[in-house]
Amino acid sequence: MEILSERINSLPVSATLAMAAKARELKNQGIDIIGLSLGEPDFNTPEFIKKAAVHAVNDNWNSYSPVDGYADLKKVVCDKFKRDNKLTYEPSQIVVSTGAKQSIANVCMVLLNPGDEVLLPAPYWVSYSAIATLAEAKSIIIPSSIETNFKITPEQLEAAITPNTKLIMFNSPNNPSGSIYTEDEYKALARVLENYPEIFILSDEIYEHINYGTPHFSFARIASLYDRTITVNGVAKAFAMTGWRIGYIGAPEWIAKACNKMQGQITSGANCIAQRATIAAISAPVSKIQYMVDEFFTRREIIIKLLNEIPGFRVNKPQGAFYVFPDISYYFGKKIGQRRIKNASDFALFLLEEAYVATVTGEAFGNDNCIRISYAASEKNIRTAVSRIANALN
Ligand code: GLU
Repeated sequence: MEILSERINSLPVSATLAMAAKARELKNQGIDIIGLSLGEPDFNTPEFIKKAAVHAVNDNWNSYSPVDGYADLKKVVCDKFKRDNKLTYEPSQIVVSTGAKQSIANVCMVLLNPGDEVLLPAPYWVSYSAIATLAEAKSIIIPSSIETNFKITPEQLEAAITPNTKLIMFNSPNNPSGSIYTEDEYKALARVLENYPEIFILSDEIYEHINYGTPHFSFARIASLYDRTITVNGVAKAFAMTGWRIGYIGAPEWIAKACNKMQGQITSGANCIAQRATIAAISAPVSKIQYMVDEFFTRREIIIKLLNEIPGFRVNKPQGAFYVFPDISYYFGKKIGQRRIKNASDFALFLLEEAYVATVTGEAFGNDNCIRISYAASEKNIRTAVSRIANALN
């Protein structure tokens, strides 16, 4: 008899991880799948970071760390916020966690009550709505489309707010669209939020450094919002450290304290070696990782050009991150070979099974017209994948 909790039964599986697992499974069966589903740099972690980790092992950094992270790491995080984001945080406002995903989960668990509403400008990262659901809150999706470059307007924000709105989860550069809100766009949204002092802002800036030219901005830079903004970041994407699992927040001290308490009961401090390596990563000049950003830029140019050549693909021009989010609704209702494509999920499945290319349906990100393609893959794989897609659609 299955007696799992309502909580887990109602939780959707992470679409990004599920697609990656499916691609892995097919690969293990000997099928030559090209995986463009997972948002994960295909670079190795830079040598100077690996060396710091090896030193930490040899220097016996093997005990529990403080729950909210080593003091010297928290200091380095404060320095980073000052250097890159012009944000002033004290170490007491920092909590280091097992990946930015845990940082986000901590924040939701400590702020949300049943019945609270969480605003999700769409497209949004898959786990936002699932985490809000775990915290027994209700996700309110604010839609956007390729016509507005996948950004929402202040008017839409205003219209979505109700007396139950507690939190907005904001992500720029955005996963899955790659769109970046400009400083003026942030300020326009802030003018709305200023009228609702009971709403908190979670600003997920994990793709900050993977940026092709639009200056990065942070909600917490806006003085009137600083006291109710939680800035989330981590090392996974910029430093090719996805598996090391280190994320962190800068937040009002009372929220940081609550996250510390939550984490203390669920996971304790993050991995000690990964924390030591993170000190090396984020205290290094950003120029040290520019070679990866340059490479992502080159791949963006290639994939956009190639996808634009496929009939029925409407392709956005991402300004950051390493995803492209084409609108493929042209194919809905059409028959390709034996299959009728009803929606984006059918389309993604078609690409997996007929083109052997793994992508992720836009439905998982709150946009039913698109699919997400990660171009954090080699140029060769990108070229082969797109030509397979084109051939399958022919
Ligand atoms: N954030 C990455 C992605 O969207 C990693 C997978 C995940 O944790 O969902 O693909």
